[in-house]
Amino acid sequence: MDETPLTLDSVSFHYASGGLGINDVSLACGTGSWTALMGPSGAGKSTFLYCASGLLPIESGVVSIAGRNLSGMRESDLTRMRRDHIGFVFQDYNLVDAFTCLQNVMLTALFGGPSIKKENALRALSLVGLGDFADSYPADISGGQRQRVAIARALASQPDIIFADEPTGALDSRSASLVLDSFEAVVEQGRTVLMVTHDPNVAARAHRVVFLKDGHVDSICEGYDAERLAMHLADMASTTAGRQVQ
Ligand code: ADP
Repeated sequence: MDETPLTLDSVSFHYASGGLGINDVSLACGTGSWTALMGPSGAGKSTFLYCASGLLPIESGVVSIAGRNLSGMRESDLTRMRRDHIGFVFQDYNLVDAFTCLQNVMLTALFGGPSIKKENALRALSLVGLGDFADSYPADISGGQRQRVAIARALASQPDIIFADEPTGALDSRSASLVLDSFEAVVEQGRTVLMVTHDPNVAARAHRVVFLKDGHVDSICEGYDAERLAMHLADMASTTAGRQVQ
């Protein structure tokens, strides 16, 4: 793919109820890049992710995926865009207990969505280290393995970009580490990952960390280890608290 997988240019979104959302945010995520979004609670991380993936309709600015402006796209085109270019991974896995891991990876196809070839589903399971679990059921595997099935599902349609919302939020550190290994494998394949996390250990695995505060990009850190990221976050929180006190 020649186009930059994801760009946001001066994007704003405010909730109808008055919630801040995000304000004048710009960011580009290149092919094979891995970006973590961090920031204090309420900073706009989830809103950013949902605007960037077209799940929330932005108010102003431009979001482009694979070079195509999402604004003004018909719903059917937006659906096709998501299907062809985007994979989602959520904290709570969203697996169906009655289906095997393989069936879960092929789930959208089973419900009339885009068809996913069995070989692609099996390849995605192998990529996340679960090649031997195709016929297992979610109840028979660990939380970390369930999350990796969810990642395999996001990968099976071979999307250019994967959006992940706290993908390790419900996992112990060893399972989280295996999930992050899966992301690393995906990124090495040239996919682009944008993930929200509150955990500096998780964010440290990404290529760069974008810190949000009060709905805007506060800073972008590259090459920081978990300890430096935690300190940066603490500094941001204390300046925010200081400003509130004034
Ligand atoms: P984060 O993910 O960093 O915790 P969010 O994106 O959830 O931040 O929230 C950013 C801002 O938007 C906060 O001020 C929050 O209160 C507000 N907000 C989030 N969701 C809603 C909603 N559904 N309705 C109104 N305000 C919201």
